[in-house]
Order: sequence, then structure tokens, then C-alpha cells
Amino acid sequence: MQDLELYRRILGIEVPWHVDAVELKLDAGEVHVHLAHRDGRDWPCAECGTGYKLYDHQPERRWRHLDTCQYRTILHAEPPRSACPEHGVRVVQLPWAEPSSRFTALLEGLAMEWLKAASQKAVDGLLHLTRISHHLATEARDRPASTSLRLLAVLNAGSSTPALVKRRAPPADAPLTHFAPPLHRARW
Ligand SMILES: [Zn+2]
Repeated sequence: MQDLELYRRILGIEVPWHVDAVELKLDAGEVHVHLAHRDGRDWPCAECGTGYKLYDHQPERRWRHLDTCQYRTILHAEPPRSACPEHGVRVVQLPWAEPSSRFTALLEGLAMEWLKAASQKAVDGLLHLTRISHHLATEARDRPASTSLRLLAVLNAGSSTPALVKRRAPPADAPLTHFAPPLHRARW
């Protein structure tokens, strides 16, 4: 059970989400972290934020996260959907990633920071990825600057409640360097 709590803390996963299973695939050099949520709560409409009962789930999705040591780390979850009378059936906003992204917000944030000082090819190599830089260059950079930063704020705040997100989110033009990392790392 200890690895579940460890990964919950590393990932900043908070209620209603929890780490349901951690699967180490040694041969593939991968750690697969399966996220699940508690039942019986309301899920805010992604458009207006009004809470509604769970409607259903999307099929399981995967997000590439920062490596765990030398192991590629991949999150798995079935995103819930709520049915808003005004906006229809919508996937709820997940605290660890943008709706359209295959990468977690922390991975995107780190890549965006490194892209300030390194080439796309170099960043891809450092993150052991292919084309994340291309993805960020063509998609994430076109998003409002506050989008990924807001998700980073969510992870830093350890909460996915809209009110807290709004209060702690930086202004859209705030540089990424104003954000502390989610974990307080020792200086070497
Ligand atoms: Zn709505």
C-alpha cells in the first residue's frame, strides 16, 4: 500500500481522486499509475462549474507524466462526465491535465520551461519523448498562458476545487518561473 500513498503524494492527487494501483513494467521501463475516484459526489460542469451527479465515464485515457527515476511514468484514468441541462454531457476538468493533452500539466510545464533555453530536439531527448516539443509548440503555446499554469497551481495547491483554482491561479502573463515546484527539493 505504501507505493499508492507515495505516488498519490508525488502526483499531488487529492480527493475525490486516489491512486488505485501502481504497476511496474520492468522490461518496458515503465511505471503505470491507475487513478480512480470515489463515488457519490457531484462533478462540476466544465463550462459553468455547476455540480451534477456522475453521468458516465469516458473510456480509459493515458497521460505521460514526468519520469520516476529512469522509468517512464504513465497515468491512467477514466474521465467522468456530467450532464449539465444547459451545456450538455461534458467531460469534467481533470486536475492533472488539459482536456486535449496526452501529457500531464507538470510535464508540459517543465517542457515549456526548458524550451526557453533549449531546442525542441534537446527537450525531447531530455524528457525521453518524441514530439512533445512539437506538441507544445503547435498546441500548448497557442493556449491561454494561464491554462497550464492554472493546472500547475492546482497541483501545487493540492486541490481541484474551482474556487481554489481561481484564487491561486496566476495572471495570464505570469512567467512560469514564478511557480515553485510541487515538491520541495533539496539543493545539491
Ligand atoms: Zn454547465
